[in-house]
Amino acid sequence: MKQMRAVRFYAPRDIRLESVAVPEPGTGEVLLKVGAALTCGTDLKAYRQGHKLLLGKLPAPFGHELAGTVAAVGRGVEGFRIGDRVAAANSAPCGDCHFCARGEERLCERLLLHNGAYAEYDLIPERIVRRNLWKLPDGLAFADAALSEPLACALHAVDAMRIEAGETAAVLGAGAMALLLVQALRARGARVLVAGRGRDKLAAALKAGAGEAFSALDGELAAAVRAACGGRGADCVFEAVGTEATWRQSVEMARRGGRVCLFGGCAPGTTVPIDAHRLHYEQLELRGVFHHAPLYFKQALDLLCAGRVPTSLLVGRSIRLEDVPAFFERFQAGSAPKAAVLP
Ligand SMILES: [Zn+2]
Ligand SMILES: [Zn+2]
Repeated sequence: MKQMRAVRFYAPRDIRLESVAVPEPGTGEVLLKVGAALTCGTDLKAYRQGHKLLLGKLPAPFGHELAGTVAAVGRGVEGFRIGDRVAAANSAPCGDCHFCARGEERLCERLLLHNGAYAEYDLIPERIVRRNLWKLPDGLAFADAALSEPLACALHAVDAMRIEAGETAAVLGAGAMALLLVQALRARGARVLVAGRGRDKLAAALKAGAGEAFSALDGELAAAVRAACGGRGADCVFEAVGTEATWRQSVEMARRGGRVCLFGGCAPGTTVPIDAHRLHYEQLELRGVFHHAPLYFKQALDLLCAGRVPTSLLVGRSIRLEDVPAFFERFQAGSAPKAAVLP
């Protein structure tokens, strides 16, 4: 049986490069030869603390942002042939639960989540092949196409918050996800402020289209953002870090009647004290937003194809498959730059 190298997740801080059999596609499945996989803050979070929802039973395949070439197709697959260049989403809604039936696929109760991008080959499940596998135009590089997954999350968030042209949005956090939020917000005509850590990252946010950037090291961040919004606060705030402190800060940055998108997922067990008096009398709207849906994945690919995303600002380096365990170990304490894994 043909062997391949794949990274598997055993436990928090224990991922291993192993030799495993190249899977054979069953009915409806597609085998992808991975062209590029991207490291992601979610993977880093899973590396540190585990991630039951995303990883399921352990040891588990790992990595979820990828694009590549169709290497084999199972029986009954329609629309894809060997040699096609594609991007595969890491999930697909079921299509017939209570929420899917109401057109709310993003809330699907039986969402199928898939991992396995950090490998030479990845077997794409039937439901994703049917609902969330997309062909790429020739000009789009695999590493750029693989950005469609995180960008789809950003587009989902911006859509859920009903952002309109001319509004001011503040993004709390300056990582890759924040840069993608900047893209999604600019695409809707919003003015964007970014508040976060790291001079280089804030400079990248400005290059990516943010109007102003605020350093978390320069004292009171929420006050600075409020001041830059006529003293009132932002129309909408996007929290893209995922800690108790930043969730609280994001609420402080919102204006009367403002909206807060709680986009960065916190560790299980996290609780956040909120000023309930202000929440009520200033009529704030707090909303959790997670993940994406096929509609947003397609929109993300369209934006990438149109060259509307400064991909070079987002993916700073490339590493080999065998470097993946060391990469996560090295960045386990802080945030990591986004890297393209080229098998
Ligand atoms: Zn991701
Ligand atoms: Zn469903």
